[in-house]
Amino acid sequence: MNEYSIIPIRPLTGDISAKLFAAPVLSALPKSVPTVAFRAPDPADEERWRWHRIGGQAYRIAQPVTFTPYASAQPCSARCRFCSETLVETGAARPSSGLRPGPDYFAGLESALHELRGLPLSYSLSGLETTDDAGWMGAMLDVLARHAAVSPVLNRVLYSNGAGLAVPSQGEALLQRLAGFGLDWVELSRHHFDEAANQSIMRFRHGIEVQYQQPFEAMVRSLADSVNVKLVCIVQQGGVSRVDDIMRYLAWAHGLGIRSVIFREFSKLDDGYRANVTARYIGAARVSMNALLAQCLAAPVFAGDFAFEQVTEGYYFWNLRGRFRDMQVTFEASDYSQMHRQHDSGNVYKLVFHANGNLCGDWNPERHVLFAASRQEQANG
Ligand code: SF4
Repeated sequence: MNEYSIIPIRPLTGDISAKLFAAPVLSALPKSVPTVAFRAPDPADEERWRWHRIGGQAYRIAQPVTFTPYASAQPCSARCRFCSETLVETGAARPSSGLRPGPDYFAGLESALHELRGLPLSYSLSGLETTDDAGWMGAMLDVLARHAAVSPVLNRVLYSNGAGLAVPSQGEALLQRLAGFGLDWVELSRHHFDEAANQSIMRFRHGIEVQYQQPFEAMVRSLADSVNVKLVCIVQQGGVSRVDDIMRYLAWAHGLGIRSVIFREFSKLDDGYRANVTARYIGAARVSMNALLAQCLAAPVFAGDFAFEQVTEGYYFWNLRGRFRDMQVTFEASDYSQMHRQHDSGNVYKLVFHANGNLCGDWNPERHVLFAASRQEQANG
């Protein structure tokens, strides 16, 4: 069983289209989209929800649901200008990215997963950069593999900038480790096909090999030998922002042997975030996915070889997937105000294990705490 056996896929009719999160973009498209995948469950459809006890309390949890052991063993190897991990919520004590795992971290992760036994979930490995700390990554994968041996795990996806995989002394071993873990795919961030333009956005730290084109491309080729790789490009001013950039990005990815590319808009922020340097950058450099998509579909060089396959209705995002020649191309956008509304609804849409030992229904390590491993240890101790 995988996530796609749970997510209903229906023909996309006008009636359905008008009710979707993606309705404004769908209504403006000059090409039709044949199907819709309802990744977000209908709140009234009991088939799409599971009641599960966590820490002695019953919660109504979406299906499918992803579980993220938030990677924060060390600061990220990159300092992307738009990094959502550096956004700070007003009133939040400390974001998850500022917490470091202590000596009890893995015992806490085991305890949290023990609470989730029997609940079908998918692994979504993200946070800061998972591959930056090979020791932490290996130990984390060991814990997740033990859980998957006794409880249903539907999909496994890693989100990475690839930094640790391009380190000569460890890259090959990490690649083998990830391949053995059974990843369904890796979403690999690269926001421009040109080395200097990418570095001006991602700002890899001194000595990080993957900032250079040749080591990055060599790493992509070896990773793609054993795992399905999707390249992720966050569109922005100063980066990929126009149809000719899209064409050059796709040609570059194709030359690397990659057949799947995701173009993503900056998440729309609500007023729950401080106007720090990251939030200001996002405001100034935003490229609207609706406008970029319209530009692509008006350009014969793209539109002539492109056909839509599906729209996905997520719980706080939409994406439009299609085929461009022999490649899968996805356009995606999301909205944090919608995400916060859903997280505050009383239902559980997301599971995150933070370095402070809290299993939460949110990216904030103090909000919607479902289970606190540290309290459990004190009780046991
Ligand atoms: S690679 Fe990811 S976690 Fe690291 S700085 Fe960039 S967006 Fe943030």
